[in-house]
Amino acid sequence: MALSITNLSKQYSNQKTALSNFSIQINKGILGLLGPNGAGKSTLMKLIATISKPTGGSLLLDDTDIVQHPDAIRKVLGYLPQDFGVYPNLNAYEFLEYIAAMKGVGGPGLRKRIDILLEGVNLTADAKRPIGTYSGGMKQRIGIAQALLNDPKVLIFDEPTVGLDPEERMRFRQLIADLAQDCVIILSSHIVSDIETIADEVAIMQGGKLITKDYQQDIINQA
Ligand code: ADP
Ligand code: ADP
Repeated sequence: MALSITNLSKQYSNQKTALSNFSIQINKGILGLLGPNGAGKSTLMKLIATISKPTGGSLLLDDTDIVQHPDAIRKVLGYLPQDFGVYPNLNAYEFLEYIAAMKGVGGPGLRKRIDILLEGVNLTADAKRPIGTYSGGMKQRIGIAQALLNDPKVLIFDEPTVGLDPEERMRFRQLIADLAQDCVIILSSHIVSDIETIADEVAIMQGGKLITKDYQQDIINQA
């Protein structure tokens, strides 16, 4: 699947222009969005996830306009928002069951799928403990697992490595590399070293604009 983003703009109701004539073509592989806080990364991701509507420009998934037809992306989308909230009294297994029900993911394979996902984010041993007792990194890993429930073809991770320790980061990189085999992945960070080791291509954003998408060390070092 490919995303064609053309002159995409978002002006919030407070007049703030968060995204300005943003254009990019996203094919297979991993695109990293790099930029300081307020650059427009979350805004762009919300527009692609159809959580929010653009005020200008177009967003195509293959040939389908997803502003007009959001279901076209929603059914193939996995999304980890930045302000991902969890339910402290549920354990990891119950939480994934709940999200699966909300997404309409079910059937006889669900238990197995949840087990595989928990294994993939290294939470099998803690799956019966309430999420409220988890560390920040464990909560983030549960957030990664919920994004994968529906076997997505487009994955959007907003600041996925926040709260992960070096070991968790290494595992995350491996997981992402595996998923990228048959998935378009977009992930954001304000940390250069996070993005440069994971992404195939890096788009640097600032002030709602795309500064460059050339992977050049000297440019990244300035970001
Ligand atoms: P939209 O135009 O997409 O509906 P709104 O401007 O109505 O967006 O704002 C959506 C929500 O985000 C509101 O609840 C608002 O309070 C909140 N919000 C407002 N300003 C900011 C900001 N600077 N950063 C993050 N969230 C904000
Ligand atoms: P980033 O993810 O790169 O930190 P954001 O997309 O969250 O950037 O924010 C881009 C700009 O838009 C910021 O100036 C932010 O304050 C503003 N903004 C984000 N969300 C809202 C909102 N819901 N309402 C109004 N302004 C917003």
